[in-house]
Amino acid sequence: MQTERIKEQIELLRNLSEIDDTLADLNLRLETIVSKKNELKNSLKDNLSLLESLRKKRKELELEAHRMEKELKEKEKELEGFAAKFHSLKSNREYQQFKEQQEKLRGEVSALEDKAIATLDSVEQLEIDISRKEEEMKKEEENLKQQEKHLCEEEEAIQRDIAYEQEKRRKTVSALPPEVFKKYSRIHSKVKKKTVVSADRERLICNGCFMSITLQELNEILRAEELVCCRQCNRILFVEEKL
Ligand SMILES: [Zn+2]
Repeated sequence: MQTERIKEQIELLRNLSEIDDTLADLNLRLETIVSKKNELKNSLKDNLSLLESLRKKRKELELEAHRMEKELKEKEKELEGFAAKFHSLKSNREYQQFKEQQEKLRGEVSALEDKAIATLDSVEQLEIDISRKEEEMKKEEENLKQQEKHLCEEEEAIQRDIAYEQEKRRKTVSALPPEVFKKYSRIHSKVKKKTVVSADRERLICNGCFMSITLQELNEILRAEELVCCRQCNRILFVEEKL
């Protein structure tokens, strides 16, 4: 009677150990999916902030070009006004000074024109960069959305598996005597995985920690009068039935 009871407990404990290992794997997969989803979000954020900085730069350059245009108009007006003075020149010396100043003004206008053109070229180049980046981002966003959808589906499937395993676990635990479950839980919290393992009856080792067991211990497991734990790793041991 006792032997039957222990054998039954061992069977339940083996199931419980398998369920717990499956749950641990599922939870690990869930964590991976959550971190992958975060990575996707961050990559989208990085792209957006790059685009934002390009747009900001364009705005700055546009303002700069606008300012230069205004300055250029003023300089041109100044140059025109200056040219009108030509008629009031009285001496060679004045003429010389007039020519020098006119050259200087013309030089300034021309330099300003060059700068304004270069700035407008930069704005144009930025426009190209921005629309290219926007195009890239559209594709990227589509791609990321697709990836996220797959991850969400995977996540849902894992959640379903977890719920299924938890229900199985609940049933298994309720079939075990409380003190046996307590013992299992204590060992499980230490070893984390493979809480219940087989003992290799040929090689006389524990398949959890691969340390040796004695022949006497093997016989104790086979007699099934009580639960036998590995002396090294404390895992609950069982022996596979010979076919
Ligand atoms: Zn062991």
